[in-house]
Formats: sequence, C-alpha cells, structure tokens
Amino acid sequence: MEIKIGHGIDIHQLKLGEPFYLGGVKIDSDLGILGHSDGDILIHAIVDAILGALSKGDIGTFFPSSDDKIKNVSSVIFLKKALEIMIDLEFHINNIDINIVLQRPHINSYILDIRTNLAKIIDIDIENISVKATTSDHLGFIGQGKGIMSTATLLLIKNP
Ligand code: ZN
Repeated sequence: MEIKIGHGIDIHQLKLGEPFYLGGVKIDSDLGILGHSDGDILIHAIVDAILGALSKGDIGTFFPSSDDKIKNVSSVIFLKKALEIMIDLEFHINNIDINIVLQRPHINSYILDIRTNLAKIIDIDIENISVKATTSDHLGFIGQGKGIMSTATLLLIKNP
C-alpha cells in the first residue's frame, strides 16, 4: 500500500470588516481574515497539505496572489483543484487533522459545520476530518488578535 503524508500551514492577518470563512463556513464576527481570496486559511492549509504530500508545490504554484482573477474568490475552488490533481494521480484522502490557532472569536460552535462542509466537498466520512481550535494564551500577534493560523496534516493512500 502506497501512503503519503502531507502537512500545510497558513497565517493571515485579522482585520475589522473583512469576510471570515473557515472551511467554507461563514463565521459571524466583526473581525475577518485579510487575504487576496476570501482568506480561508483552513482550506489554504489543506490545499498545501495535499500538494505537499504529492510533491506538487504549494497553493501559490497554481493560484499566485498576483492573479487578479482570484481576487475575493471562494477558497473552495483551490481545494477542488488540489483534489482534482490528487484524483488524477489516483490517490484518496484517508484522514485530515486540522488545528486553528486564534484568540477570538470563539469558533467552537462552528466546528461541526466546518467538518460537515469539508466532508461534503472532499467526499469522505466526517469521522475522518478532525478540526481543533486553540488560542495562543494571549501571546504574540495571534494572542493580540492581529492574526490567525491554521495547520493541516493528512494521509493520502493510493487507490487499489
Ligand atoms: Zn492563505
């Protein structure tokens, strides 16, 4: 059995009045994520983990921030592109483990929605998608509410 591990990490600024999407789910908050697209760091981390597992570069390889066509687009299209590349190479995702680090807002009530939405897009069982949120205990730029970070680790398995 051929298996490949992938890891992705992403950090963006938090700003008042920006949109706030995590895993394609809209978060209700005065703060939002500053980004060229919709700034969905959770999806950006997953995309980098998929591409990383396959040694196909990173999200910027396919969607450079200099490209005006991706301005304010939903990051779900980035994930669909990464999944397309993975499917072409005859791999599937076994499971994903995601961490989100932010001081505020509290997002625990959104986690089930995020897992449900990702399971639908990726077409795997929700039990194979873990989403965890933590704070940086008021330390650093994340603790001061200026930024947000997400990591994603996943396992790809070659189709039988
Ligand atoms: Zn990003």
